[in-house]
Amino acid sequence: MPAQARTAEATEPGLAASLDWLGLQSAVSACKACSLCASRKNTVFGVGPASAQPALPPQVDWLIVGEAPGENEDAVGEPFVGQAGKLLDNMLAAMKLGLSQDGKPLGLSRHSSVYIANVLKCRPPANRNPSPEEVAMCEPYLARQIELLRPKIILAMGKFAISSLTGSSEPVGKLRGRVHPLKHTSHSAPVIVTYHPAYLLRNLPDKAKAWADLLLAMQTYSALRAS
Ligand code: URA
Repeated sequence: MPAQARTAEATEPGLAASLDWLGLQSAVSACKACSLCASRKNTVFGVGPASAQPALPPQVDWLIVGEAPGENEDAVGEPFVGQAGKLLDNMLAAMKLGLSQDGKPLGLSRHSSVYIANVLKCRPPANRNPSPEEVAMCEPYLARQIELLRPKIILAMGKFAISSLTGSSEPVGKLRGRVHPLKHTSHSAPVIVTYHPAYLLRNLPDKAKAWADLLLAMQTYSALRAS
């Protein structure tokens, strides 16, 4: 069956691997694979620049992966729209990798150059941690997003994104400072790990370490572009 013909009935995460971008979005919004569907207001698929055609994923080199929607994200259906999101947007804006039309250094942004998604597409009640079962049910959606977006580089923020993308459950502090291979998808891309923005809001001194991680990400990306 062609990928698009499956869209209406594809509400099981296991079918995600056969879906195109639009089909994947419909499957996520209809998903009832775990109990989070009962308490969610909205699913949160992801956000990035507009695609050339709605059926195609946006063209981005960067994918940022967080944990799960919180209250604000659940309310509006977009990732990282609360305080942690403001910090994330500022971190991205500080990553000056391009030049504007008038020659000024241009940072990364969800509106032009990065796609942002979470491991879980639904909010865990009271912002509790995702359970291993919820992560296992939802991971095929993220894996398919990665296969369709084909990012050149991935920034994993916080322990849930890091363990989904690298397969390691070591603490962030032990994993940061080096490049990790991406696990569990047919696409390959370097994964840089760092602290979750919500953690950084509570632990301001670790912002310096996060900046070092972003520098590693920028160096890794520049080396890829040059090769
Ligand atoms: N924290 C996350 O990990 N993701 C969001 O979308 C918002 C907060």
